Formats: sequence, structure tokens, C-alpha cells
Amino acid sequence: MEVLIIGAGATGLKCAARVRRRNEDAKITVIDKEKKISLGRCGLPYFVSGLVHELDELRKTTYGALRDENYFKKIFNLDVLTETEALEIDRKRRVVKVRKREKEDELNYDYLVIATGAKPVRLFGGDERILTFFDAEDAEKILNLWENGAEKAAVIGAGFIGLELCEALRNIGMEVSLIEAMDQVAPMLDAEMAKLVESHLKENGIDIHLSTRVREIVAKEKLKVIADEEIEADIVVQAVGVKPNVEIAKKAGIELGETGAIRVNEFLQTNDERIYAGGDCVENRHLVTGKMVFAPFGDIANKHGRIIADNITGKKSKFPGIIGTFIFKVFDLTVAKTGISEKEAFLNGFKAKSVRLSVPDKSHYYPKSSNMRIKLVFEENGRVLGAQIVGIAGVDRRIDVFATAIYAGMKLDDLANLDLAYAPPYAPALDPVIVSAYVAINKLEGLFETTRDLAGIVLDVRSEEEAKKNPVPNSINIPILELRERAKELPEDAEITAICSLGLRAYIAQRILRSMGYRVKAYEGGIAFL
Ligand SMILES: Cc1cc2nc3c(=O)[nH]c(=O)nc-3n(C[C@H](O)[C@H](O)[C@H](O)COP(=O)(O)OP(=O)(O)OC[C@H]3O[C@@H](n4cnc5c(N)ncnc54)[C@H](O)[C@@H]3O)c2cc1C
Repeated sequence: MEVLIIGAGATGLKCAARVRRRNEDAKITVIDKEKKISLGRCGLPYFVSGLVHELDELRKTTYGALRDENYFKKIFNLDVLTETEALEIDRKRRVVKVRKREKEDELNYDYLVIATGAKPVRLFGGDERILTFFDAEDAEKILNLWENGAEKAAVIGAGFIGLELCEALRNIGMEVSLIEAMDQVAPMLDAEMAKLVESHLKENGIDIHLSTRVREIVAKEKLKVIADEEIEADIVVQAVGVKPNVEIAKKAGIELGETGAIRVNEFLQTNDERIYAGGDCVENRHLVTGKMVFAPFGDIANKHGRIIADNITGKKSKFPGIIGTFIFKVFDLTVAKTGISEKEAFLNGFKAKSVRLSVPDKSHYYPKSSNMRIKLVFEENGRVLGAQIVGIAGVDRRIDVFATAIYAGMKLDDLANLDLAYAPPYAPALDPVIVSAYVAINKLEGLFETTRDLAGIVLDVRSEEEAKKNPVPNSINIPILELRERAKELPEDAEITAICSLGLRAYIAQRILRSMGYRVKAYEGGIAFL
């Protein structure tokens, strides 16, 4: 059996290795147009920031072996042909026309795997200081320009790659302007969660321009980024997304889906039963919305590689779809999401509800405890649709629990009863995931009546000291411990919004005052969301 794989990235090499593990006799050839294969793109921000010293570190195994052609030959007995571009697929003859340097050749296959990945969207060019941030060459160019005196960078695009890059550039001491066409950073999050990220970026010296569409970049001694305003920079990096690399597939009559990426069935097979495709060049079914989406992520690419290899070597393996889980670090914050946001729930016609809350990541008395902000999206029947978390610590663990819950189709009651690990250095006795489910259930049952506006009389129920230190504008302060005695000070017929630092005391205040007949709502999630 001859297996030919186009693309020696995450999908292609994972697939090749697994085909070999399952079949010692297959002839496996992987081709890639690049010279250096198997570079973990996800590590590029950390190379720019100086945390990773050598690019080759991103190509090594856990035990330090460089994953080059030699490595793959020795360990897996497979041929990796570098600097070899696939030009055309002849499906009738089952051959791929390739070119290495100027020389053209043909390679046969019994099974072909298209793992051509994605390519960066490039809006502007024409000057070596106007870059994208996609591969090793881009990272090296950025560092070269910096070593040669570039001090100011403009990053276009506030998605996760743009934000990771902002941090990397600040870490090497550059001034950074971030330009985003949407009215928020991290457009995949709901606005109030993105606001938390935005504040943190500002605290770390990023100059942010939202709702700013770049029209032109004028290259003189300095670069002038022309939008509604002009932003001067020494380098401009475009991080405005990627698109699937599908030309070769399209030319061969391989069907594309509605997203423009290759359409595959659940076995990751294209409309040609001899041709499989996976990774960033294919579309995936979103298991929450049921729609096809383009989800270019490294973990998915690896999973695709394994499943394709299984199918080629005789084990029927299915890839059901994705739920859009991601995580990234920006300065001291970790930002993560799984499932869908409230905005996406609305756009997809769900009758969704949501809660947002602030909870400690570990027991509050344990050193370095910090508060994470969670937004949970769910249906009236309790089905969990999505979660977003922004925090300093413990975000990774919680987002994965939410992801598992969503994948398994769990409801809020299931989530509330999960047996999660607890000890003070790791979690409060009630884990943030469980507290989120409790709060959501309380909201659905009408016990927790909330608002996201400061309407009517704003009642700050924090201690006097907290209120003085960080006042809520136009509020009155009655500490929660005094509320039962002092409630009479509040006008009986007024609308009241109770607020506190995390949301818990506001909830308690709401229950106390409600039992006394007041019209009161609790401000959801505490003052971090103001
Ligand atoms: C800066 C950055 C940071 C990222 N961070 C994360 C992260 O933290 N988490 C995450 O999940 N994902 C992350 N990603 C995304 C992740 O890197 C991709 O999803 C993953 O690499 C996709 O794997 P792939 O095999 O589909 O494509 P790739 O790994 O891109 O491999 C495709 C290969 O195909 C080759 N090729 C294409 N066309 C041809 C042709 N005609 N002939 C020969 N060879 C060809 C290319 O040269 C390339 O080597 C990041 C991406 C970038 C750019």
C-alpha cells in the first residue's frame, strides 16, 4: 500500500506516524514545500518573546531529537521530501505531480492525504516591514527588524494570535499599537469578557485602537498605518486570520464546503474515496450549533491525522466534530472559551440564558488565590452551550471540565454534581465549575434575580473600607453585615441594584431585601464587570 501525504505539518506527520504504527509494510511518503518541516507554529510567539531561544526547539521531540527527514526515516521508515511542492492531483491515474526546485516528477498513491493547512490572510504588503505572523520566516523577520532598531510595532487584528504577539513584542521591549476593526478585542468572546482582556492589555502598555479599519499603509522612513487616524510604526504585523489552503484540492475536483474549506465525511474522507483530508484545510461540524465551521487549531489537526491513519489502515474511525474550545495566554491572563458565546447563541437561534460570575480559583485564604471571571451560556432546559473564562490561574482546568460537559451533552444538574478534585491549593471546596452551575440553576429558578445595568438606587454591600478604596460611582454603602438592621434606610418603592466585589454578597443582599418586599436585583459578577 502506498500512502502519499501532502503537507508535513501537524496533520500530515501525525498521520504518517500512525499509519506506520499500524502497518509496518506500507510505503509512506510525505511531501512539503518547505525546507524545515514539523515546526510547531503554536510556539512562535514564545520564540519572538525570547522564552524559547532556538527555532529548532519547536521542532524537537520531548526527548530532544530534531524532527527532520532523517528522524522520520530512522524512527518511522518513511520518506519526507522537503522543498517539494505538490502541483496537481491526477485522480484517474492516482498520481501527484510534484516539483523539487526546478525538477518535476510524479508520485503514485493508493491513498492520498491532503494536509495542506492554512495560509495567512494578507491585506497589505509591498514593504519588508509589513509582515504576517504565520511561520518561522515571519518570526525571524520580526526579530531581525527589532535587532536592527525597530522600536514600534503595529499589530493588526486582536484575535488570539494578534494578542499573543502583542505580549511577545512588549516582552522584547517594543512599543505596541493594536488595531482592530471590531469594537472589542478577542472578537470570539462576548463583549464584557473581552473588556476584561482589553483592560489587562492596557495595563501592560498596549495602545489599543478599536473599531478601526486600516485602509492603507504608507511606507516611508516610518510606516504610516492609515485608518480614521494615522498610526506610525517601524513594523506592521497583520494577524487577521487564516484561510484554508485548498487550491490543489479544488483544481482536482475535490469538493469544498460552505466555509470554503474541504468537505469531508465523518471518516475525514473527501468526495474521492481514495483521498482523505484533515487539519486546517478542512471544515468541521460544530457539535453545539450543528453548522459547518472553519476551525484552524493544532489539537484538531493532530486528531485528524490519527483518524485518517486509522481509516487508511483498516480501522473505521470517526471524527464527530468540534465544540470550538481554545485557550491562550496574554500577559498574566489566561483566556479560554468552549462551546458558543451568548452572541453566537443568539445568532444561531438558541433561546439561551447566561450568567457571569467571579470566583476564586483556589481557597481564598491560600496564598496567590485569584479570582476568575466565568460566563456560562445555557438553555432553559439546563443544557450547557458554552463557557468563557478569563483569569490568572486555574482557567485551563475549568475550561476543560466545561468542554467535557458540553461534549457529553450535560445539563446544569450534572455539572453541579460532578465529583471534582478539591484541596485548598487547587480549588475552593465548591469548584468554580460547580459554583457556575449553582448560580445558573438559581437564575433559572428565579432565586437569583440579576441585572447587568446599574439601574435605580445602587446599593454597595461591601465593607466601608472596600467601598472607600474602590468606590462605585453614585452608590450608597450599606455593608452586608449591617443590611438586615439598616434596610429601613432604603426607600420602599425604589428599584435597587445591589453590588459587591464578586457577586455573592449582592446575591445575599438581594434575597434579604426581597424577603422584606424591596424591588431589588443583584449586579451580576461583581465590580470587575463595571
Ligand atoms: C502563530 C500561531 C500560533 C498558533 N497557536 C496555536 C495554539 O496555541 N493552539 C492551537 O490549537 N493552534 C494554534 N495555531 C494553529 C495551528 O498551528 C494549526 O492549526 C496547525 O498547525 C494546523 O496543522 P495542519 O497540519 O493542518 O497545517 P500545517 O501545520 O500548517 O501544515 C501544512 C503543511 O503543508 C505544506 N503545504 C501546503 N501546500 C503544499 C503543497 N502544495 N505542496 C507541499 N506542501 C504543501 C505547508 O508547507 C505546511 O508545512 C497557531 C498558529 C499560528 C500561526
